[in-house]
Parts: sequence; C-alpha cells; structure tokens
Amino acid sequence: MCDVIAQINGASRRSFLGAAGLASGATLVAALGASAASASTAPEPASNAAAQHFRTRLALLGTAAGRTFWGGSERQGISSAVVVGDAVYLVDCGDGWARRYLQAGLGERTEFHGLEQLEGVFVTHMHSDHLIDYPSLLIFGSTDGLAARQNPVEVIGPGSRGKLVPLSENAKSTPPVINPENPTPGIADMTEYLYQAYASDLNDNMRDSLKPDPHTLIHVNEITLPSGLVVDPDVDPAPPMEPFVVFEDDNVRVSATLVKHPPVFPAFGYRFDTADGSVVFSGDTAFSDNLIRLAQGADILVHEVIDPQWVESLFPSPPAPAQQAKIHHLINSHTSIEEVGDVAERAGVKTLVLSHLAPADNPKSRWAEAGRRFSGKLVVGEDLMQLGVGSRKR
Ligand SMILES: [Zn+2]
Ligand SMILES: [Zn+2]
Repeated sequence: MCDVIAQINGASRRSFLGAAGLASGATLVAALGASAASASTAPEPASNAAAQHFRTRLALLGTAAGRTFWGGSERQGISSAVVVGDAVYLVDCGDGWARRYLQAGLGERTEFHGLEQLEGVFVTHMHSDHLIDYPSLLIFGSTDGLAARQNPVEVIGPGSRGKLVPLSENAKSTPPVINPENPTPGIADMTEYLYQAYASDLNDNMRDSLKPDPHTLIHVNEITLPSGLVVDPDVDPAPPMEPFVVFEDDNVRVSATLVKHPPVFPAFGYRFDTADGSVVFSGDTAFSDNLIRLAQGADILVHEVIDPQWVESLFPSPPAPAQQAKIHHLINSHTSIEEVGDVAERAGVKTLVLSHLAPADNPKSRWAEAGRRFSGKLVVGEDLMQLGVGSRKR
C-alpha cells in the first residue's frame, strides 16, 4: 500500500480554479453549454462535437447501475472519465467501459492502440458493477496501448474493509466465506488475484508473444485514510471528515472523501480540480454530508440516483427475507430522486449530472423530478454524453 501523492512530489503544479455559485433558475438541459448531447442511449459521439472545444471535459461512458443485461436499456455499466487536454482519468470500470472509451474518442480505435492517454484509474468502491470490466485494463491493456506509455497507469482505489460484513438480520443461516484467508480484498489484492486467475493467458503471452508483464504497465495504489480518522465500518462507514488529496499531476488534483454506502467500506467520492474547473463523482452513496462537503462549489457533480418506486416494485409484498435484505440495501445505501437535488443544492454546484441510474430503463421524465429541489442545471446522464468544463479553448 502506498499513498500516490507521496510519489509525485516534485511534479510541477498548476494553479487551480474553483467555481462557485448557482446558475439561476431550475433548468433541465441535455448538456452543459454548447456541448449538446443526444437524449437517446444510442452511441452518438458526433453529437458531442461541441464538447471537444473545451480543454477539460467530462465524458460519461456507462451510466447504468448494477448489471446491464436486462430491461430495455442499452446503457453500459458505470464508468466515467475526466479529460484534460490529451490526458484521460477514468472513474470506475463498469461493464463495457473500454468499448465506450474508444467510442467516446478518448483513444485511437485501431489494433494495438487506444489507452495511450490513460493516466489514472480511480475506483470508488469494490462492488462488482464498478469493477466487472477491470480485467480488460489488466489483461488486454498491454495490447491496447499501455505498452506504448512512458509511465505506468496509476490505479487508485480502496483497501480492504478489514473485516467481514455483519450477517443480515434476515439471514436464516450462516453462509460459507469466500477466500477466508482474505475475505475482503482491496484493489491491490484484487489485481493480484486477477493476474493469478488469468495466469494461463498471461504466461502464455509473456513467453510466447513476448508481451510485457502487466505489473510494469499498471501501478496499483490503495488509498490510505488520513491519520487520526478512526472508522468502525459496522457502526459508521463514513464519519464526518475533510476531503483529502489522493493524487496530483500537472493536470488534476484529485481529492477523496468517505461516502455512505453501507456495508461497504471504504467507499469514496472523488473531486477533480483542474485549471478549468472541477468535476465531482459521488460514487455509490446514500445522502452524504461528506460528499456535500467534497462537492462545494463544483462545476459539475456526477451523482448516483435510485428510484424508490422501482425498488418497491421489484418484489411481492410481503417480501421474502432475502428480498427484504436487498430492499434494505438499495434504500439505505443509495440516494433517491427526491434527495439528490437537495445534495446538489447544498453543495452549490452549477450542474448536476445523474448517472449510475437505478433502474437503467426508467423514463427520463422520472429522473427529471430531481430538479424540483435544485436550482442549477440538471442533466440526465446518457452513455457517451460529454460536457465541457470552464471556458472554450481559445
Ligand atoms: Zn454501483
Ligand atoms: Zn455499490
């Protein structure tokens, strides 16, 4: 484990611009400024041409919560990117992120290319919908441009929870423990386990096709919480705290905070400050004062959202014990349509972008109800939507 910030001392730093104030009047817009985006979930990167005029931009890659195979939505799993000039910073690796990454024009879409500009990957938490396509980076990445980079890609994410999640009060029996010697691996151990799981392929390719060892291309860092912060994840996984810096280079300064996604710990929200403005990602969280603190005055807040009416509709009444446990998690660990506008209002952000949509196939009009409690711009996220940050390039 190591702290990334400690490794980049000496890197030149830009001055950072915060953004403040609310846009007047509640508005639902397709995209920020002139960077119009499609209302469809179908990939239409050409519709984001205007966003290319911004040096810094947000690219939504996948916008679905959870699994993506069901329902009528074509949304891919949760994944987003902040682009500063040519540099790309990925947030989460949900299903289909790599395909969307190239569809969004973030890399050259030809054989043996694609990820050359990927500088960092930020993982919010260890739930599988945020990591199910992480192996594409680890295993395919060397062929898709990582080998051409000067420096390894920095992966920044959670460490171990430290102890198993308590058993649900709805449990009828105690389940077996997967991997009992390390039942709650963080991102570093997960990475090594994935290399082990793909050892046949990796050893084959390193010996026969002379592909590089992925360890030399990808540098994994588990976030160390600020000293003095004591957390019992079973009691409160996100006690009040100040944001802290986890990464910094010439383009971005990335701060993190613990957010409230029980029983997950640690679960992070991230804030990217650039010379052009700021973009904040909630990760998965219930209403979180820490997140509101992190997002103060940001240009864009990308926030997860869940529709409680959908949760109610999922199971018969009364629900079975396992169903009740699932309902409890969905309601208590995510932010509802009614709450999310309030979060954005309290944070004073200019634009609220809804993503990690649960369910992925809700009508847009339902999500738009989040605007009732937010006086800024509301954007219902779509795969491949891009939003400019700050001013257009001159
Ligand atoms: Zn999720
Ligand atoms: Zn989650």
